[in-house]
Amino acid sequence: MKIAVVGGGPAGLYFATLWKQRHPDSLVRVYEQNPPDATFGFGVVFSDRALEFLRGDDPETHDLITPEMQTWQDMTLIHRGETVTIDGVGFSSIGRLKLLQLLQARALAVGAEIEFEHVVHAIDELDWADLIVASDGLNSVVRRGFEGDFETSLSYLPNKFAWYGVEKPFNSLTQTFVETEHGPFNAHHYRYTSEMSTFIVECARETWLNAGFATMSDEDSRALCSEIFADALSGKPLIANKSNWRNFPLLWNDRWSHLNRVLVGDALHTAHFSIGSGTRLALEDVIALVAAMEAVPDDMTGALHRYEADRRPIVEKIVAAATQSARWYEDFATHMKLTPAEFGYSYMTRSGRVDDDRLRQLAPRFMEQYEAR
Ligand SMILES: Cc1cc2nc3c(=O)[nH]c(=O)nc-3n(C[C@H](O)[C@H](O)[C@H](O)COP(=O)(O)OP(=O)(O)OC[C@H]3O[C@@H](n4cnc5c(N)ncnc54)[C@H](O)[C@@H]3O)c2cc1C
Repeated sequence: MKIAVVGGGPAGLYFATLWKQRHPDSLVRVYEQNPPDATFGFGVVFSDRALEFLRGDDPETHDLITPEMQTWQDMTLIHRGETVTIDGVGFSSIGRLKLLQLLQARALAVGAEIEFEHVVHAIDELDWADLIVASDGLNSVVRRGFEGDFETSLSYLPNKFAWYGVEKPFNSLTQTFVETEHGPFNAHHYRYTSEMSTFIVECARETWLNAGFATMSDEDSRALCSEIFADALSGKPLIANKSNWRNFPLLWNDRWSHLNRVLVGDALHTAHFSIGSGTRLALEDVIALVAAMEAVPDDMTGALHRYEADRRPIVEKIVAAATQSARWYEDFATHMKLTPAEFGYSYMTRSGRVDDDRLRQLAPRFMEQYEAR
C-alpha cells in the first residue's frame, strides 16, 4: 500500500511509525512544511491518565518519551497572591520540539520517508497514494478542499491567548490569576525541561482591547505580558515563538473520511488546552486508525468507517470535557470574586462531573482544608 501523510506533527509522525513498523512493505511518505528543528509553541502537558492510556496501547512510545518528561503530582492556583495547592492532579510535560524529534527519529528508523520543507499545496499532488492521512493540523489543506464532505464546523472561543515560554522552571502546573488596571489576566504555566517553562497568557476580549493589544506589535505585547506577570516570572522576560494573540478554535468534523482521505489529530478536532489533551488525542486517533485498517484489511472505505465508529464516542467525551473546561475560563473574572479556597473548589468542579466525594478521593489534602475553612 502507498500512503501519503500530510503533516509531520505528532499525529503524522506517529502514524508513519506505527504503520511502517507493522507493514514494512508499505510505502509511507510524510510531507512536512517545516524543517526538522522547527515548531510552534513550547512544551505540552499530558495528564497521568493520558500517559496510562499510552502505556497500555503502546509501551514502546510511552517508554521513549517518559524519560524526557518533567512530572509533578500537585497543581497550584495563585489567586489574590495566595497559593492554593491541589494535590493528586498529576501531569507530565515535554518540549514540543523534543517530542517531534523523538517521533521523527523513530519514523525514520522503521523506514518511513519524511520530506521536510515540502508544503503540500493541493491534494492533486498526491494522486499516487492509496490513502491520504490528513495530519496537517487545524488549517489542514486536505480538509479545506472538502469541508462540505467532511461536514466541518469551526467556531472560536471569545477569550484571547498567546503562547510564550520563559527561562524559569516552575515547580508544578500553575495557574496564576492577576487583576490589572485593564482587567483580569490568567497564565497557565509549567516547566517542560529543568530550565524552561511554557507560559500561556489568557484574558477576556474586553481586557485585551482595554490594554491596547489589538493595535500593539507582537514584540510590545510580549513586553507588556512580561510586565503584567513580572511577579510570577521573577522579572524574567517572556520568550516568543510565533506567539501572536489568538482565539481558541473549536473545530469538529461530522464525517471523518471522504474517499481515500482520512482526518486525524487537530485536522479532525480540537480540545481546549486547559485539560492538556490535544496531543494525546492525536496519538490515540492514530492508534485507532491503524487498528481499524488492520481489522478490515481489504476494504479501505470499510476500515475508515470502522475507525470513526470505534473512536468517535471516546473523542466526543474528551472534547466535551475540554469545552466545558474552556467555558469556566471564559468567565474567570467572575470566579475571581471568590476567596482563594472557593476559587480552587470552583476550578476543580468546573466540568460538572466531579462531586465532593470524588474530590475527597482525588485531592484529599485540598478538600480537608476547604471543608475545615
Ligand atoms: C496554546 C496551546 C497549548 C496546548 N497545550 C497542549 C498541551 O499542554 N497538551 C497537549 O496534549 N496538547 C496541547 N495543545 C494541542 C496540541 O498542540 C495539538 O493538539 C497537537 O499538536 C495536534 O497534533 P497534530 O499532529 O494533529 O497537529 P499539529 O501539531 O498542528 O501538526 C501539523 C503539522 O502539519 C504541518 N503542515 C500543515 N500544513 C501542511 C502542508 N500543507 N504541507 C506540509 N505540512 C503541513 C505543520 O507544519 C505541522 O507540523 C495545545 C495547543 C495550543 C494552541
